[in-house]
Amino acid sequence: MLWQRTLKSSIQCTGVGVHTNQRVAMTLKPAAPNTGIVFRRIDLGARAPEIKAVHANVVDSRLCTVIGAGPRARIGTIEHLMAAFAGLGIDNAIIDIDGDEVPVMDGSAAPFVFLVECAGIMAQAAPRRAIKVLKPVVIADGDRRVSVRPAAEFSLDCRIAYAHPMLGEQRVVFHPNPGAFRAELARARTFCLEEDVARMRAAGLAKGGSLDNAVVIGKNRVLNDGGFRYKDECVRHKALDCLGDLYLAGAPILGAIESERAGHALNHRLLAALLGDTTAWCDVILDGDSHGPVELELERSRAAIA
Ligand SMILES: [Zn+2]
Repeated sequence: MLWQRTLKSSIQCTGVGVHTNQRVAMTLKPAAPNTGIVFRRIDLGARAPEIKAVHANVVDSRLCTVIGAGPRARIGTIEHLMAAFAGLGIDNAIIDIDGDEVPVMDGSAAPFVFLVECAGIMAQAAPRRAIKVLKPVVIADGDRRVSVRPAAEFSLDCRIAYAHPMLGEQRVVFHPNPGAFRAELARARTFCLEEDVARMRAAGLAKGGSLDNAVVIGKNRVLNDGGFRYKDECVRHKALDCLGDLYLAGAPILGAIESERAGHALNHRLLAALLGDTTAWCDVILDGDSHGPVELELERSRAAIA
């Protein structure tokens, strides 16, 4: 049996939203078994509206993943934090936030992994559930495609293709091996092309974007000091986004995901199609042999300490 997990203690950070450029404070807190990942907009009065991070609450997925409850209570750019929870196998957490966008930090999931590990991870007395895929589901839009098919474990095969000399075709295949998320995906940052920066600024987008929180790719060089963190950092970031988006299923998915040039919108269409068809999946309890994108290394190191 695998047990649900939450944080051992609360931990806070501050930062700016990449789209709004607003400074926000965010506190990650432990939560009871079967709570899921729940955001609370603590700036919206004493009865802070709660927004559970599940697919049914996605209200926008054009630039980033936004969840909402009612007209005012929205929280954007949740995907990198959700990827950290997925990658570290956190089932339950409360996130108190005093603004409408999760801080972008360095544009990757690594600062959130650091926060969660500083707070500590605790097993809970409730079995971990997962969504077992029973039949293939495919979403395509032109040359973009994302699919899931039945498999004993979670895996993610992600590809991108850009007609750009610094990018070209890239592919990463992610399996939840020990330490895999931290080593292979967590540090991959959001990226954009230098030629798009002025256009985005003119449209009032990415107001908080900078070389501190995104890789900016020029014609034949990376503008950031130090260049790429991984040779194929861009496809790794796409995989990180996909992992975070799919965690809005409400549980890890036991299935093989393939993503080709897909983004947030397609990821959410896949979740809608999968979860909307009750013959395409079933709930299962995870035993020790089947696992979602959990870092087993942590389980082992904690077992060794105990
Ligand atoms: Zn991203």
